Amino acid sequence: MIPVPFCARVLSIVTCVLFVVVFGFADATAQTAPEASRAITPPPRAKHVLLIGIDGFGAYAWEKADMPNIKRLAANGAYSLEARCVVPSISAPNWGTHLAGAGPESHGYTSNAKAPGLPPRKVSAYGRFPGIFGIMRDAFPDAEMGVVYDWPRIHELVENKALSFEKEVFPRRVLKTHTPEETVAIYEESTDTATTETVAYLVAKRPRLTFVYLRALDETGHMFGHDTAAYYATLKKIDAHVGKLIGALKTAGIERETVVMLISDHGGHKKGHSEVRLQVFQTPWIISGAGVRRGHKLESTIVSYDTAATIAQILGVTPPQCWRGRPVQEAFAGQP
Ligand SMILES: [Zn+2]
Repeated sequence: MIPVPFCARVLSIVTCVLFVVVFGFADATAQTAPEASRAITPPPRAKHVLLIGIDGFGAYAWEKADMPNIKRLAANGAYSLEARCVVPSISAPNWGTHLAGAGPESHGYTSNAKAPGLPPRKVSAYGRFPGIFGIMRDAFPDAEMGVVYDWPRIHELVENKALSFEKEVFPRRVLKTHTPEETVAIYEESTDTATTETVAYLVAKRPRLTFVYLRALDETGHMFGHDTAAYYATLKKIDAHVGKLIGALKTAGIERETVVMLISDHGGHKKGHSEVRLQVFQTPWIISGAGVRRGHKLESTIVSYDTAATIAQILGVTPPQCWRGRPVQEAFAGQP
């Protein structure tokens, strides 16, 4: 008969061997799996993302526009002039889509009305359809994240309870007695202030994720028409704002660790953007910075809902099932 202590020792050795075989193998798999997936789709990683949203920036404007900062941003990164907005080609449905990774049929903002036309298909812990700020907050409870805007409707489109900082800039009240020139000046002023607020925030807080929304260009389009001298004059001013925002990243010392993305919600035709035509539906989509290809014109199909998915990949968070967007993999260094 084998003594009990010996039996226990044998059992213990067998258990140890089994443990090493099972968990050792699992551990080795865990260590190699990311490498294997990296070989297929290299996940770029940057510490910060600055998302610049310009309302009413049509891709058609690219050639004629005097906008050295925006063109330099594109030349230093990857960009498309064929990104498309979702239907309807108006502001809230598309800004909601950029931030949410899914279209109006999912997030519910089917018009510019304050309340969604449809209830959101899913609601996050922050009371809105799950968006990029909510999934970031879930993954990084302490991350600094902020949004600055000069159009009040953005407040409803972002999971503001997930933010560390939200700044709404109120344009001066536009009266019926104001001329088109005066109206444009009011919105150019609010967009200027939104930029200044964002610059201060970037420098003071070095946020992980920032979204700044700039309103003036679309207002000039509504007042004087898209693709007009007045439109390009406002665009030139907004280009200077983009220069200041990029300069703030340098001042903050985070320029090399940041990806800057520049997007729009729709273009325009005459004094509106409801016509179904490419001048309305195609916008620039620019991505530039850490881990991004340089001087690359993107061939990929890009739709507004791909913006959030791309940010999620850059910052290393997993999109929820309810998203429809996909990361624009072609933009990242190491891609064929
Ligand atoms: Zn708009």
